[in-house]
Amino acid sequence: MQLDTAVKNLTNHGFSVRVFKTQQEAVSAISQELSGRTIGFGGSVTLQELGLFEALSANNTVYWHWKQSPAEALEKAVTAQIYMTSANAISETGEIINIDGTGNRVAAMLYGHEALYIIAGTNKLAPDLPSAMERARNIAAPLNARRLSCKTPCAMSEPMRCHDCGSPDRICNGFVTLARPCGGIGKTHVILIEENLGY
Ligand code: SF4
Repeated sequence: MQLDTAVKNLTNHGFSVRVFKTQQEAVSAISQELSGRTIGFGGSVTLQELGLFEALSANNTVYWHWKQSPAEALEKAVTAQIYMTSANAISETGEIINIDGTGNRVAAMLYGHEALYIIAGTNKLAPDLPSAMERARNIAAPLNARRLSCKTPCAMSEPMRCHDCGSPDRICNGFVTLARPCGGIGKTHVILIEENLGY
């Protein structure tokens, strides 16, 4: 994967991009720049692996339905000053893809916050938009379906791939691609970490 190409194209598209060698460096930098804020989290194995909820809760009010009462946390995350999530895939051509079941995460990527942070390991990079969508649909979504023990064909059969199912457990209902940052230049931070994180 060409990290330099991804950084160049994401930057040209108006995203504020930073690269960190390690997750510790990334968590330290994010923790230092955010204080006294309300922060909403989307569902994300990456955020969980980084321990960001714990790190940011020291100096901010963080809402995350994975750690708190889901109904209350989801509602408060929507109106938080800052929103954080990861990505299911990022193209080296400069687009960011997320797939969502309930829609809270992809809705929050689009509107309603002073700043959006998208934090991802470089394992999420794909060469172009079609391959990024391929990654999101055939790697990220099936692995998430398995994590959630969904009774979907991607979770229950090999080889692992999307069957574009009609299952009641389907988790792929909303597909959002950020081609450019919504809400203005500089408001969407893309934090890339040179490690494998999440799916
Ligand atoms: S659409 Fe269905 S089969 Fe495809 S990844 Fe999503 S849950 Fe799995």
